[in-house]
Amino acid sequence: MKFLSAVIIFLTATFSVAQDYWQQEVNYTINVILDDERHFLHGEEQFEYVNNSPNALNEIYIHLWPNAYKNGETALAEQQYASGETILKFEGELDRGFIDSLDFHVNDNPVEWNFDKEHIDICRIILPEPLQPGERLAVSTPFRVKIPSGEISRLGHIGQSYQITQWYPKPAVYDKNGWNQMPYLNQGEFYSEYGSFDVSITLPKNYVVGATGDLKTESEIAYLNEKAVATKNAIEKGDFYVKDKSLANANDFPASSEELKTIRYVQSNVHDFAWFADKRYQVLKGEAALPNSRKMVTTWAMYTPRNSRLWSEAIEYLNDATYYYSLWNGDYPYNQVTAVDGTISAGGGMEYPNVTVIGNSSNAKELEVVIVHEVGHNWFYGQLGSNERVHGWMDEGMNTLNEVRYMQTKYPDNTEMSDMVFNGSFHFNDLDHHDMSDISYRLIAGLGEDQPIETHSAQFTPANYGIVMYQKTGLVFFYLKDYLGEEVFDKCMQEYYRRWEFKHPTPADMRTVLEEISKKDLSWLFDDLINTTKHVDYKVSGVKQKHGNTTVTVRNKGQVDGPVEVAAWKDGKVVQKGWVEPFDKKEYFTFRGEEYDGISIDPGKDIPEMNRANNYSRTSGMFKKTERLKLEFFIGDNEPEKTNIFWTPALGANDYDNFMLGVAVHNYGIPTERFNYFVAPMYSFGGNRLVGSAEFTLNYLPARLLKKSTFGMSMKSYSSEKRINNGMTKKFTPSYRGITPFWRGNLGNRDGRTDLDQTLTMMGVYRFDESLINEGWIHLAGGLLEYGLNWKKTDHEINFRIRNEYVRTLQRYDWLNQESGSLVLVSNDDQMARVWTELSYKWKYFRKKNTWVELRGFAGTTYSYDFDNPTSPFNPFGMSLSGTAGYQDLFLEEYYFGRFATTGSSAIQRMENMGGFKSSSWYGTTSNWMATTNLYVELPLLRNIFGIYADYGVFHNGTALNDAYDAGIGLRLASVFSIYFPVLISTEMNDSFGDAKYLQKLRITLRLNPFNGNFKLTNLIN
Ligand SMILES: [Zn+2]
Repeated sequence: MKFLSAVIIFLTATFSVAQDYWQQEVNYTINVILDDERHFLHGEEQFEYVNNSPNALNEIYIHLWPNAYKNGETALAEQQYASGETILKFEGELDRGFIDSLDFHVNDNPVEWNFDKEHIDICRIILPEPLQPGERLAVSTPFRVKIPSGEISRLGHIGQSYQITQWYPKPAVYDKNGWNQMPYLNQGEFYSEYGSFDVSITLPKNYVVGATGDLKTESEIAYLNEKAVATKNAIEKGDFYVKDKSLANANDFPASSEELKTIRYVQSNVHDFAWFADKRYQVLKGEAALPNSRKMVTTWAMYTPRNSRLWSEAIEYLNDATYYYSLWNGDYPYNQVTAVDGTISAGGGMEYPNVTVIGNSSNAKELEVVIVHEVGHNWFYGQLGSNERVHGWMDEGMNTLNEVRYMQTKYPDNTEMSDMVFNGSFHFNDLDHHDMSDISYRLIAGLGEDQPIETHSAQFTPANYGIVMYQKTGLVFFYLKDYLGEEVFDKCMQEYYRRWEFKHPTPADMRTVLEEISKKDLSWLFDDLINTTKHVDYKVSGVKQKHGNTTVTVRNKGQVDGPVEVAAWKDGKVVQKGWVEPFDKKEYFTFRGEEYDGISIDPGKDIPEMNRANNYSRTSGMFKKTERLKLEFFIGDNEPEKTNIFWTPALGANDYDNFMLGVAVHNYGIPTERFNYFVAPMYSFGGNRLVGSAEFTLNYLPARLLKKSTFGMSMKSYSSEKRINNGMTKKFTPSYRGITPFWRGNLGNRDGRTDLDQTLTMMGVYRFDESLINEGWIHLAGGLLEYGLNWKKTDHEINFRIRNEYVRTLQRYDWLNQESGSLVLVSNDDQMARVWTELSYKWKYFRKKNTWVELRGFAGTTYSYDFDNPTSPFNPFGMSLSGTAGYQDLFLEEYYFGRFATTGSSAIQRMENMGGFKSSSWYGTTSNWMATTNLYVELPLLRNIFGIYADYGVFHNGTALNDAYDAGIGLRLASVFSIYFPVLISTEMNDSFGDAKYLQKLRITLRLNPFNGNFKLTNLIN
């Protein structure tokens, strides 16, 4: 009885959820006139608002999204500015837009309304009396829209080509969460009420219009049909477009007809209305038969002469997209599908009900993908009207799944995209559409920079908005499709579509349908893969063949307890497959028979696995799990069944080795592997010996506390001085060798978008330096602990670092001062411990030109300093570290052409660290304590390459307090190269040069490691 009552509760719960669902309805009538000389719309709108909610409404929120283009303070302008786009931010860059002339009436009476305090693209109508549940009212208003430049966002014009989207006053959605009013954004889409539209557009007669809805104007239907025949004839003739002899250039705009026309469109069960008008459009017309109802849907393609060749097959793409999306999800419910060539946007496209606008494509395959994707939004956005701003994956991700499936179905070997994108370079060819998604997801996840699929659109980083929301969603639903099988999966999607068509489904609604139809618990999908950044990794850990059976042990090495597919191979082909149901640690799968020669998991590569290296095992023999090696030039993709090794000739240079030549071998492919190596042995022509560097890292991506954890070891061996005679042996070239093991943790978790990056680093060092001090040699060992913080927000940036270092000499010999002919041990317990911190604040003081000012502070002290040689170059702190910089770089972190140079041009290459003085100087090194402050002001001229600097510092040299200052002019190119010219230098600093030339006072920095250690080609400099 207990069981039965549980079932009853479950049933009533489902029933009541369905019963509780309600949504509002809005029915519009709009008349609009296009003024194509001044780029204005003059409109009259009326809408009927039906309150189906159980609540009385006192107000209605209205979106006035053309106002997003009104000034530099709107949410749109701020979002674009934050991602580096200033087009709308600053006055005068481009035509802005707005909506005005509003005069709202409710049931024909004037009504009180006001703009939202924060967003001018939202307003609120205060209802004279509450609108009761079940009641309806009529709102009307005139409106005028200034159409902005089409280069800003989705509403706009380029010349007389018009994209009229989000253009009329429109109620926000009222649902169980209340009002969902939201400002217009570029990154973050829509949520609108369903209803009907009756729209009449008046414009010069020679415009071609693509729009939402069924065209009701007979003369216009005849006009389009005529155009379609003419375009078709032009294609057959090989001209591809209808030539207009009055135009010098086919892409010029013909003059607008004096005569105007009014065309009318009607549509129900949609939540938006968009239209596109261009006098140059060529028109193609086709028909798609729907797979279930056999109903015919009219398809239209409209494009400019410029793209006529590319678009000549567009009808096929429209027809096939309409067919496959209907087949997999449910029949298209409307009468027409239109794609228009949006000359405005480069790449990509944008969806509206019935009509989609397509950006420029470089080839036919790319055009097909974009058309298919945008047409597909008629299902995931058009008919399933989720709140895209909050659950963007429900339209973009589900649509990507269908788009990739379309490509796989229509073009089983669809590697053309990757072949074209990469043009065959770096071996990134022969990847199909699914592989491309897979690689981009694993790349960003491998860096520890991914975010959960279920993230608010505005909270995504721009990269994750594309890679996670679109691509990863597609991948996880491919996983589900593969697990359930196409038949069950399609049933799930069709039922989801049937139940939620023309409604606002949430993730929970989708999950309910999918679990009910598949009869599976989908926690692994919805709780883990969608709501978190947990990673998937399964492993074939053992294969046993006994008593006519082959038993496979599968281990879950990842963080997601999902299902896994196991396959048995024979002669290079999969002969049997089966699924292991969701499991957490270890599971067995048994195949009948012992005849297989290999076992793999995920043979279709449909599981978004982070680590594919452990997916295969032979059934017998030695080295069962070794993959085939593949040696490739430079860099490429890490292929699932192979061990890719990349190589490149290595060239290097420094003061002592002169020229170096060798080979670099590494496995930094895409996506990255858990274990990475980079080895670059080179022959030194200056030192006549083998030199080079190497680095090994092991990466972990924990589920919490750390975004990423890296264990590593760097090794370097180079010459440290020109060829010398040490008085004992023959001439030789001294060298240094170092090993630095390290651990680096990126603190924080991957959920949500954060402006804060924190790292914790531990590093050890062992180094052997010849000719380090007064020509001898030294063995040195030490360690450091560092905490770093970076906070960045649009116009501000803070960097903070605190570091504690300790080094100790193990042995130090002096060979030149010895008299007896044997080596002299100078000391074996010199030590130094220092702690220092730096804090910098950067502020973009001139936003229009992206011009920054930076203020930095540094302070450091030694708490143990015990070097026998008082002139030891191991002075812990220096104002600008002239001539001893390489010695200060105890852990061999930096790249110097003249690591130990004290004179000559390579000696002026310095890092901007420690005291941070921009003038090169001998003065101001101390083994006591030091504090400095540095100011750098970029000048908003010539892309900010020039700036002025000023530095001031105090230090204690053990006996007295001293200070120094300098000021001058800087020149910085990107963040790689800079040179500083001193104008003012304090006396002691200046005197330290003696008669040195001005050149010696300059300071040059070369930052050769812009990727922050992720790719170590710069190792070759040292
Ligand atoms: Zn999309």
